[in-house]
Amino acid sequence: MAPDAAARPTRAELRLAAREQSRAQRRGAAKAATRTALFRVALPSVAALGVAAAAAVTVQGEADQQRAQAAGRTPQATAPDTAAAHAATQALAAGAPAQASRGDARQPLAGAQPTEAPTAQPTAEPAPEPVKPTVVMPVARHGLGELFGEAGTHWANRHTGIDFPVDGGSEVYAVTDGTIRTQWNPFYGYMTILKMPDGTEAWYCHLRAYKVRKGPVKQGDVIAFVGSSGNSTGPHLHFEIRPQGNGPIDPLPWLLSNGLDPR
Ligand SMILES: [Zn+2]
Repeated sequence: MAPDAAARPTRAELRLAAREQSRAQRRGAAKAATRTALFRVALPSVAALGVAAAAAVTVQGEADQQRAQAAGRTPQATAPDTAAAHAATQALAAGAPAQASRGDARQPLAGAQPTEAPTAQPTAEPAPEPVKPTVVMPVARHGLGELFGEAGTHWANRHTGIDFPVDGGSEVYAVTDGTIRTQWNPFYGYMTILKMPDGTEAWYCHLRAYKVRKGPVKQGDVIAFVGSSGNSTGPHLHFEIRPQGNGPIDPLPWLLSNGLDPR
């Protein structure tokens, strides 16, 4: 007998080997398919996480947020998004388990955040610095009636202050620290004058009653109560600002320049 005859596989052995081979191929293909599927599932969630994280870090203010939502993927979001996908790819390539779960993928992303955020910053618009108010409202409720300079039938000249249309008896507050004096005037009725440290005077007019008649007060103190005394058709606070006790200026820009919008 030839020696190679014994070594030659039988027909049955060949069939068996072929079956084994195709089974192995199927297993391999199935495993690869699983890996691809898992990768596809994991990647979008990582990308979404990247977008959300980028939005949270770089987008400031409601307007920006709305713009980002409207635009979908903003330019700022693209870099972290790509970085997240890149990190996930690297994790897989580095022999990380093919079952790269959301948890696994999240960790490299979380580590990458602090370094990614600054690169996205320059495109984000900084929020305007709010002016810190140095004055408080003369009454509790915002909203104005007659404005400065308006013509009226019951005023001798143009309106010399602004009116706060609040109920009779409402509390009146010292807009700054200062010193109080009070007096009666046929036009202004019962009035309180607050002299501020820089010499500016705030006039509170048509009052019903005084809480403080004279002397020093602190910002926010209740100094009087709203009424309709003097030349007035109904309860409201008439408020004037007089630099150095001179002629009246428009109190609205004065309040605004001191960081308070009474409207
Ligand atoms: Zn008035």
